[in-house]
Amino acid sequence: MSSEVKKLNPKEVLCLEYLPNAKVIEWSVKAKNLPKVFNNILNALAERDVRFLSGFQSIDWNENTLLLGGFIDISASEIRTVEDLRNLLKNIEGVLEINTSEQTFDGLIIDTLHFPLQVAGERSFTFRVETFGGILKRLYDKFGTGAAVILYEMGVAAGESKAKSMMKKHRLDKLKMLKLTMAERAAKGWCIAEVTEFTSKNVTLVVKELFECLPFKDKQENAVSQFFRGYLAGLLRQLFNKDVAVTEVECVAKGDATCKFIAEVKG
Ligand SMILES: [Zn+2]
Repeated sequence: MSSEVKKLNPKEVLCLEYLPNAKVIEWSVKAKNLPKVFNNILNALAERDVRFLSGFQSIDWNENTLLLGGFIDISASEIRTVEDLRNLLKNIEGVLEINTSEQTFDGLIIDTLHFPLQVAGERSFTFRVETFGGILKRLYDKFGTGAAVILYEMGVAAGESKAKSMMKKHRLDKLKMLKLTMAERAAKGWCIAEVTEFTSKNVTLVVKELFECLPFKDKQENAVSQFFRGYLAGLLRQLFNKDVAVTEVECVAKGDATCKFIAEVKG
């Protein structure tokens, strides 16, 4: 299996923008899902020197509508107010709904036009990796090895439920199912995992940037992953329909370049 190094750019989730010297407003436009409508909306703004800041686009396949949302800077634009923006957009064919906000906190604007946060259509929430690290540290301080057991079991539950929902949705072989699940972990920001060995007895994964271990980088004598180790165990148990033991043999917490997990399929 290849281990080519791809340069990846970060994926920013719309949340806030801080530009104290600009006139930033938030916009959210729902329109018919047609290429021309998308183009006409962006062109109308670009032609009036609106500067696009962070934002997103999404599709609602039930309604067949497009949603465009984000922050724009109108300080160099002939659009002076949110009313100007609304008047401009409402005359574009295919535009169905316009929402705007100009509420700022000393140059800081926060997304107040969209809720809930969805990832692949599923309700989600975010945690900073650092915050999660703080939670783990506290758990280990208070409960020691008990914390490791709890985290491992939480991971097993998450991995099992993931495998069950994947097996309902897709008919793929075990390796493809594992690769698909790991690709989704990367898309959701957990880690970048690569399957480097896959037989009926052993599975090896090399895992970079794992959220669970990063907060402990170079600070521990032993491997620290319990949640993700449990996640792999739960996932692989379901895929193989056999007992699986997972060991983290390398870990960034103990100074290794990546984390590495070896799963042993029993029986
Ligand atoms: Zn690790």
